[in-house]
Amino acid sequence: MAEQYKLDTRCVQAGYTPGNGEPRQIPIVQSTTFKYATGEEMGKLFDLEEAGYFYTRLQNPTNDYVAAKIAALEGGTAAMLTSSGQAANFFALFNLASCGDHIVASSSIYGGTFNLISVTMARMGIEVTFVSPDCTDEELDAAFRPNTKALFGETIANPALTVLDIEQFARAAHAHGVPFIIDNTFATPVNCRPIEWGADIVTHSTTKYMDGHGAAVGGAIVDSGRFDWMAHADKFPGLCTPDESYHGVTYAEKFGMGGAFITKCTAQLMRDFGAIQSPQHAFYLNLGLESLHVRMKRHCENGQAVAEFLRDRPEVERVHYCGLPGDPYHARALKYLPNGSCGVVSFELKGGRATAEVFMNALRLAAIETHVADARTCCLNPASTTHRQMTDEQLQAAGVPAGLVRMSCGLEDPGDLVEDIRQALEKTGEA
Ligand SMILES: *Cc1c(COP(=O)(O)O)cnc(C)c1O
Repeated sequence: MAEQYKLDTRCVQAGYTPGNGEPRQIPIVQSTTFKYATGEEMGKLFDLEEAGYFYTRLQNPTNDYVAAKIAALEGGTAAMLTSSGQAANFFALFNLASCGDHIVASSSIYGGTFNLISVTMARMGIEVTFVSPDCTDEELDAAFRPNTKALFGETIANPALTVLDIEQFARAAHAHGVPFIIDNTFATPVNCRPIEWGADIVTHSTTKYMDGHGAAVGGAIVDSGRFDWMAHADKFPGLCTPDESYHGVTYAEKFGMGGAFITKCTAQLMRDFGAIQSPQHAFYLNLGLESLHVRMKRHCENGQAVAEFLRDRPEVERVHYCGLPGDPYHARALKYLPNGSCGVVSFELKGGRATAEVFMNALRLAAIETHVADARTCCLNPASTTHRQMTDEQLQAAGVPAGLVRMSCGLEDPGDLVEDIRQALEKTGEA
């Protein structure tokens, strides 16, 4: 399926191919458990001797259909769903790094992920060095240590909208013998497939464009199958030495480059942390994926129209949107996002936080929400909401000044969106 058909076809049909007389839509297997005739047969599943279902916390057919579709969209060899994007990023990192290890991450990332890495994972004894998404090769190189286990970044950062030089980051990770993990939530595989540029592991908050309707929180992890764990066996004992909690299986040996990462992540982390996506949510997610390619086009058109309108307004200090020719990330966007970036536009209003509040309260179509990438336009002031745990210096480093408004353009008519913004700007009295 993956190689044979174009991306639009994969959005609609990959992951599930029903046989004669089987449901056309993916079945929701609403069952916690699966039956076997003998204990011996089930024992083989527990030992990872055979593939199969026994308990939904570990695997469920509905989730597997949808994970297979996401793997096909990203061009990966294996994928898994998680209960949220937070769980996906935590699992992707914790599958590689343990207490005493270190990771390198772009400083321009989602606030929740920043907190996960800088506070919660630090409490687990995993250290982090943050680098600018615009660092030089030398600066990036200097951030690595002998105990570094992964490099992390976001294709288009939420909410700073910086665009990462994926090839540069992949090259640096590989020079240090570690995988490059990239959160591709904002671009989606419709607009960028980081594996094609050298990324090893791709994560998603499927809560955003993939679901696209603000209906279901979820996450996904995709493995490119290209990272040679055994070639760096000293760094990744969890993948390259026997797992005593699974009867001595060595993941990289038994499941190879294509399957080791996701199998270990499922067998250990999902087993122990239990952050599963429910089959019902996976079904909703699949409905979203079926139209992802159609929706992304409109989100990008609306984002472009709103960004161009804002750029020319006297009330606006600055607009961040890589689709604008003057944007610092425009060149990278032309390379990595030639068909469009996303529908999220951020901008600074003259007058800062107070003016942003007046503006947002005056909007009629765009609701104030802690959300992005929804069919309905919404907006947010990150400094007072998603990023409120960060200091002013951290906000600045993350590219999120206090007066920034993040607007997620939905699927409405672009003219209506622009008119709504115009009337709200006129109420700020800053012109
Ligand atoms: C929202 C988001 C997350 C977190 O995902 P949840 O599904 O809310 O847990 C992670 N990364 C990015 C880029 C996001 O936008």
